[in-house]
Amino acid sequence: VFADIKTAPPIEVFHLTKLFMEDKHEKKVNLGIGVVKKCELEIVKDPKLTHEYLPILGNAEFTKAATELILGKDCKAIEENRIVAAQAISGTGAVRLAAEFMSQIMKRRTCYMPQPTWDNHFSIFKAAGFKHLKHCPYWNAKKQKIDISKLLAALSEAPEGAVVVFQAAAHNPTGMDPTKKQWKQIAEVIKQRKLFPFFDVAYQGFASGDPDRDAWAVRYFVKEGIETLIAQSFSKSMGLYNERIGNLVIVLKDPKHAKAVASQITNLIRNSYSNPPAFGSRIVAKLLTNEENKHIWLQHLSEMSDRVKTMRRELAERLTELETPGTWDHIVKQRGMFSMLALQPAEQCEKLIRDKHIYLLRSGRINICGLNTKNLEYVAESISEVIKD
Ligand code: PLP
Repeated sequence: VFADIKTAPPIEVFHLTKLFMEDKHEKKVNLGIGVVKKCELEIVKDPKLTHEYLPILGNAEFTKAATELILGKDCKAIEENRIVAAQAISGTGAVRLAAEFMSQIMKRRTCYMPQPTWDNHFSIFKAAGFKHLKHCPYWNAKKQKIDISKLLAALSEAPEGAVVVFQAAAHNPTGMDPTKKQWKQIAEVIKQRKLFPFFDVAYQGFASGDPDRDAWAVRYFVKEGIETLIAQSFSKSMGLYNERIGNLVIVLKDPKHAKAVASQITNLIRNSYSNPPAFGSRIVAKLLTNEENKHIWLQHLSEMSDRVKTMRRELAERLTELETPGTWDHIVKQRGMFSMLALQPAEQCEKLIRDKHIYLLRSGRINICGLNTKNLEYVAESISEVIKD
């Protein structure tokens, strides 16, 4: 019965990590997956904490703290009980839960995704039942910037009710987020065309070093009275990758709909994994609700973001000094972990992996967090060499 099953293609980032682990070369560099330094957390062994099931919607202390982190403590929607929140299996699980809710419960069929986006978005929305998955222009690879007029034009033509997938900050893979002015223009089209925005927040704090500033776009939409779903991940921002801790927030116009919405989310969770694991939620709650812990975390985020900015500047400088054909100032302008280098997938990217032991995605996306003062020179020289070849 299994004879006709075809092997699915490998998942690129995980495949790259495997190749990297197996590679014995002394100069190997992994610019594929993001491994940031873990936040140091104080985990107090509390005799009151047991291994009992959590409620289906998760650890309430965690969902409250996580929701306040993205929307702000002074958010009117929170004050007016216009929020439903559910703990999720990390960012991916929160995106999947959101997509299922929008497809199965809100009966949305069409979804627009800025091009390029996190490659999992497409498959998650498809798996959740969306019938019409469309790309809309976002990144102008030639000019190395967001093509805002094309994006706005595409959204203006989207059918009423279509879902649009946005990333709140530190866009994966381009590292370029809309400016405040551009977000305002986007919000205007969303309202006029009655579209439904979904925010994926996987890198809060990575763009500016400050989680409040990185939440600007989401908070602006909410202040404008736009209803939305928001998926949060704590994998990167707290280094909690394998704890699989995330949060789904639903912002409503009217609190009277909260009960029904929460009951449907409860059903979706009950039908898939029943209830979420506790450990990661306890770490995040401890970190966000204790002022001292939060202060240390904010400091770490800010230091990490400064380090990334320095690596960006140094890589761009070295590529320029080495007279590498092309312009490199976009590396400095981009934010967050990722940068898109305009490299040819087949020739240049594969050459970097095969000959130089430098692991990056075939799209030319590199993870700046994989750079350090020791390997930067080697990476810059290698990139320069494959481009000049
Ligand atoms: N969304 C985006 C844009 C991402 O880049 C990622 C991870 O790479 C995720 C969501 C999900 O991350 P996780 O499931 O590890 O929290």
